[in-house]
Amino acid sequence: MSDTVQNPVTSFPALGALPLARATTDRGCERRTDEGWLDVLRADPATRHLVLVGGRARVLDGELVLIELAAVPAGGTEIYLGFDGTSEIVLHSFHDAPVTSDGQPSAGSTDPEQWLGLRDVAAGLGARDAGLFVEAVAIANWNHAVNFCPRCGGKLDLRASGWVKHCPAEDLEHFPRTDPAVIVAITDEDDRLLLGANKAWGGTRFSTLAGFVEPGESLESAVIREVAEESGVVVRNPRYMGSQPWPFPRSLMLGFTATAVGTELVPDGEEIIDLRWFTREELAEAVRSGSIGVPTGTSIASALVEHWYGGVLPEPERLAN
Ligand SMILES: [Zn+2]
Repeated sequence: MSDTVQNPVTSFPALGALPLARATTDRGCERRTDEGWLDVLRADPATRHLVLVGGRARVLDGELVLIELAAVPAGGTEIYLGFDGTSEIVLHSFHDAPVTSDGQPSAGSTDPEQWLGLRDVAAGLGARDAGLFVEAVAIANWNHAVNFCPRCGGKLDLRASGWVKHCPAEDLEHFPRTDPAVIVAITDEDDRLLLGANKAWGGTRFSTLAGFVEPGESLESAVIREVAEESGVVVRNPRYMGSQPWPFPRSLMLGFTATAVGTELVPDGEEIIDLRWFTREELAEAVRSGSIGVPTGTSIASALVEHWYGGVLPEPERLAN
């Protein structure tokens, strides 16, 4: 049931189908602008509803729990998510947990083990559910963050089934925003991979370099600038590898490879505190021994590292035993 609609992106770029880039749902962009579309869906018993509380959704037996309207607590922000090939799906997003009069969470089950975050479960979900979950978190983040007009400060109304906000004072529409960020697997002429340790990760977790695209900048220029800023390395030939949404809160990660002109490393000392070149053998040994951590799971960084490595990296021995 999870994958009844084929992903229309039949030819993925080099990284393949990333965990958060497998959406199959028809978002129904032409239907969402019909006035009263949410009322139509609310009245239809075939509509399925997804409840999101603080970015978490109920997941049971590896599937998102979609429920009938009667079981949905009142007071959430309603947003149309799309048609999955069987059902129309509506999101009900709560910034904080809705509670009943006796103080219990009222969004269906109260079992905290069923309420899970996107990053924790995305890789294990089917394509439909992973796509719905990432869409829901992304649009919910925007809805909860943007309530006042950035031009005049007036209160905004929700339109287009949750996808547009309208300033009544100026009759202006505001649309959801996404922040593009580049992330780069840099290799030298010996095909060693450059990884950096971010201060925020404690200094022993190494990953690919990344940064936000600045206004007025191309993706390729952002790759060259970010790498130079964080590592002192000059790169050429930025090559696009694939992308996935990363709604924490609103990024789109664009994966690249690039070739280093030199190998001298100068960590910026603020964000990146250590930098190392790794051969495949060195990286596998460092991961196996547990001396460093590398990105795992749903991140595009993990996909970039394993694309270069040529397979799945070994487990740390202390965890594998
Ligand atoms: Zn305004």
